[in-house]
Amino acid sequence: MSENKLERIKCLIIGSGPAGYTAAIYASRADLKPVLYTGMEPGGQLTTTTEVDNFPGYPEGIDGPTMMIQLQKQAERFGTEVRMGMVTEVDFSTERGGIHKVCVDNTTWVEAETIIISTGATAKYLGLPSEQRLRGGGVSACAVCDGFFYKNQDVAIVGGGDTAAEEATYLANICNKVTMLVRKDEMRASKAMQHRVTTTKNIDLRYNTEVDEVLGEQVVEGLRMLNNKTGEKETIAITGLFIAIGHKPNTDIFKGKLTMDESGYVLTELKSTKTNIPGVFASGDVQDNVYRQAITAAGTGCMAALDAERYLGEVEAE
Ligand code: NDP
Repeated sequence: MSENKLERIKCLIIGSGPAGYTAAIYASRADLKPVLYTGMEPGGQLTTTTEVDNFPGYPEGIDGPTMMIQLQKQAERFGTEVRMGMVTEVDFSTERGGIHKVCVDNTTWVEAETIIISTGATAKYLGLPSEQRLRGGGVSACAVCDGFFYKNQDVAIVGGGDTAAEEATYLANICNKVTMLVRKDEMRASKAMQHRVTTTKNIDLRYNTEVDEVLGEQVVEGLRMLNNKTGEKETIAITGLFIAIGHKPNTDIFKGKLTMDESGYVLTELKSTKTNIPGVFASGDVQDNVYRQAITAAGTGCMAALDAERYLGEVEAE
């Protein structure tokens, strides 16, 4: 390839979670010859999970990293080229049928006729050393994924938004007791969600309360809480700690280039994965702050590949 001639890719997929790989499976089967860049965390958020028990088709469950390797193999079987690399800059064409440019690892520019963005979102954590040490040992950022492992046990959840409220009531159905830590004297969650929390008997709601320390060596054994009004500390015995203080969509490189909501989630057209840029589609958690499941991410990955295929067909016919 000469210096002036950039590689031209028909369908470029950014991200290697369930959304990216599902888009790759569909795009390669449609002969779009997709190239997928994995990003910094090949396999995405699921590689930090141990057991995935809620993805249909795995009656015995499957561990996250194995599932992602299988998805990669399935995509490669149909011809997807999976490349290690991080997309660091984009230059989108606003023209229908225009060619988009993407820079990989700050060095190589490639051209793409269509782009599927599946860069995901990253769960926020408190940042305490004890919390980080026990991630995967009882500290989780997904109650729907991991709550089942704490059946009839005592757990705690941190956060006062809709996610925390929803996850607290979800956990309350499974666990013996849920202690909910809200750092202010009020919750940010909608009134309806707050009502659900306050009327659930086995949720012990603590306002003005923060995590002081997560206790336990290999696994979570307890929690030291701090009342930020009185300065009082209290220790409770728990086996699971759920952090529900929000997610950050991985969209920094698209700021000012794609329409997003105030939190940075990419906005897509109703019932599609179309962004405001023709030929650029978004799937998975990068455009979903509500469901955030592997199966829903995979579903929108499929939609993005079908949308890209349709777009290419229409542009060719114009
Ligand atoms: P939010 O940003 O809405 O809420 C985050 C919560 O975590 C807040 O209560 C915040 O406290 C707290 N928090 C943040 N940092 C810390 C910290 N370091 N220590 C302790 N607490 C902290 O995030 P959500 O994930 O709840 O929701 C994101 C969006 O998704 C919202 O728009 C929400 O409405 C929506 N959503 C909708 C659902 C639905 O419709 N069913 C379900 C789930 C989410 P503080 O208030 O003090 O800042």
